[in-house]
This record gives sequence, structure tokens and C-alpha cells, in this order.
Amino acid sequence: MNLTPEETVSIGWKALSTLLVTSGRHTESVSEKGSFVNDPLHRGSTVIYPSVAAMRNTAGQQYEHQTLYGAMGSPNQHELEKVIALIEGGSHSQIVSSGLTACTVPLLAFLSAGDHCLLIDSIYGPTKRFSEKVMKKFGVEISYYPADISVDEIKNYIQPNTKVIFTESPGSHTFEIQDISALSKLAHQHDIKLFLDNTWGIGVFKPFDHGVDVSVQALTKYGNGHSDLVLGAITVNNDADWHILRDTSIALGEVAGPDACWLTLRGLRTLGARLEKQSISALKIAQWCQEQPEIERVLHPALPSCHGHEIWKRDFTGASSVFTIVFKQPITTQQVIDMIEKLKFFSIGASWGGYESLVLLTDGEIYRNFPNKLISGSACRLHIGLENTEDLITDLNYSFIATWRS
Ligand SMILES: *Cc1c(COP(=O)(O)O)cnc(C)c1O
Repeated sequence: MNLTPEETVSIGWKALSTLLVTSGRHTESVSEKGSFVNDPLHRGSTVIYPSVAAMRNTAGQQYEHQTLYGAMGSPNQHELEKVIALIEGGSHSQIVSSGLTACTVPLLAFLSAGDHCLLIDSIYGPTKRFSEKVMKKFGVEISYYPADISVDEIKNYIQPNTKVIFTESPGSHTFEIQDISALSKLAHQHDIKLFLDNTWGIGVFKPFDHGVDVSVQALTKYGNGHSDLVLGAITVNNDADWHILRDTSIALGEVAGPDACWLTLRGLRTLGARLEKQSISALKIAQWCQEQPEIERVLHPALPSCHGHEIWKRDFTGASSVFTIVFKQPITTQQVIDMIEKLKFFSIGASWGGYESLVLLTDGEIYRNFPNKLISGSACRLHIGLENTEDLITDLNYSFIATWRS
């Protein structure tokens, strides 16, 4: 049975929306004289105390989301950490300066010289770049596994010194879904930690229910949702991992500005509503794309043709609104560029998760270690924003007609 877009992506929204609107609001401490709805913005470096004893009493509180010094986090950062831990379903989160830093800090925290890190081939490109340029320099072995193989086959890529498997589901640009529960079982049998870049799955995939050890979020994308900042979050699920992660973050001087944290907390209040509207719209547009004679393939996990679709149906409570369309031969890359440049409502740009629609030519931009079977011809990635769905379809339709149907 084929579900409608509304049915496919509206399963988990209600609980998520309530959580997002009510978490960290401090409604229990509303003043007799009245209080603002939102917490204030706190800017600061030094924290001062009434006595030496009071200052000494803060020893060990770096693990407690307490404000001790500006470079270790502000009240706004710590509030956001609690809300992200709730959304991700873990015990503790560390907010960091960007989504990329959310990928690099745990690599530095959990790997040492002589260890091996196994990454999925479809991992976010700059994570690969950091692994190659920095982790290797410090004596960590790096290798990759293809994004479209089974967990049984992934086993063959594990080495005696493998300490971390870093995966992403769905994969960047090609959207292969991974069986995270089976992968975490395999990892734990070999005493390996499983890292997941869960940016696409924010609010719709609970990493720790599936055995993930470290979950990464680029809050730059859907978390903040307004394309006006960069921010990241790393979430773990036990005290031992939390202490390793927190110690490394502090040692690196890794921190996020209070303004970015405040704005992201505000953005998160509407995440449920944005995801619901944008993902339904995206699936309608993906289905429209699938029917176009020039399109070979649409890479969207909620479509039955996507790699791992059955796992997506089993494990996710919804979808995000970014996906890739692959064009048939003989459509050339130049024609796709011409088509993209005719679009009125899609801005040309990287990133995604904001309120606005975006288009990105992905042909040739994705660096892979294994042959990429999914993007055979020219392709572009679409991010669907909050515009009217029919307007976006009309926009695509007109530029298709003007480019290769006239
Ligand atoms: C964008 C992105 C990142 C990096 O986030 P920035 O804040 O841009 O550094 C990491 N992982 C994924 C999957 C992303 O899409």
C-alpha cells in the first residue's frame, strides 16, 4: 500500500512538537510580577562569586551544564544542551561552534594514535577531509565502507584496531539509509563505538534507541532553521562518554556564542511545524519529479525506490525535506545548470534546513572512494522550504519546459 505524503511523514510530529514547545521554558519559576515567555540572552566571560568558598564549591561542575567561565559555555548554551539531549534521547549534549566541529570533536575525543576509524563513504564531505588531513597526521588509520552494503558485509571492513565506526543515515547527497540497530550490535561485539551524523534525522530518528554511542547534529540546518548562524551539537548517553567528550571540548576551548544558542533555542520551538510542512511539501515535489520523463531517479528515503526505504519505514517517524534528483542521458550538466538558473523560488546554494528553498548542482562535487552507482548522470539536490508547494512545482515545471522541452 502506498501512503500519501501526509500519512508518510506525520506519524511522530505531535509528541515532538509538544516537547519542543514546552522544554526548558522554566514556567515553574514565573515571577509574581510576571515574566517574559523566553529566557534572557546572557553574554559574559568572567563569572564572579561572593566568596572564595563559593568559587571553590564549583569544582567538578564542568559536567553539570553550569556556567563557570565564558569559554566553557553560557546559560543559553547550557539550556540548549538540555533541550538537544531531550530531542536526541541521550543523557548529555555538548553544543559546539559548528556542525563540522560536532563531527571533529568526538573524533579527537575517542581516538588515539594507532587506532582505526571506519567511515561510511557517503559521510559529510568535510568530515572526510578532517579525517584525512588531521586524524591521519596524529597516527589514526582511516578507511571507508561503501554506503550500499549490508551490515554483514561491513563486518569485513573492521580491523583489530578499529575503535570507531562513523556513519551517516541517510548519506550526504545520495541518501542511502543504514540499519543502525544492526550496525550498533556489530560495533559493540567488537568493542567499537558507533558515531552517527543524525542531522537529516533531527526529531524523526532517535539514535540512542538504536544503540548509537555518539550522535552529531548540525544545528545550522533544521535545528535553527533560519539560515542565520552555524552551530553543532554532540550527544552521548552515559557518564563515562560524557566526561571524555566534555573534557576534550574544554581542552580544545570549544564553545558556542550565546547569541547563536539563544537563536537556535528560538528556532527549535517551531521545528515540529516546519518539519511537518516542509517534509510533506518535499515528498509531493519528489513524487512529481519521479513522474518527469527527464528524471532517471529521485533519491529520497520516503520513496520505495530509495536504498534502505524499508529500514526508513521501520525506524524513522518522519522525513526531512532535502533530496537529490538524477537526470537521464542525454541531459547534460550544462542543461541542468541552465535549468537551475531559470528557477525563481530556489536560490542556488549549499546547506539546507532553512525556511527557504535551495538548489545545488551535485554532479562531480561528491568525492567518493567507491564507485557511486546512484548518481550516474547530472544531478542536483533540492531543499524544500516553506513556500507554497504548487508554486515550487510550477517553478520547476516552467524551467524544465524552457530548458529542454521547447
Ligand atoms: C551541514 C552539515 C554538517 C556541517 O554543519 P556546519 O554547521 O555547516 O559546519 C555536518 N553534517 C551534515 C550531515 C551536514 O549536512
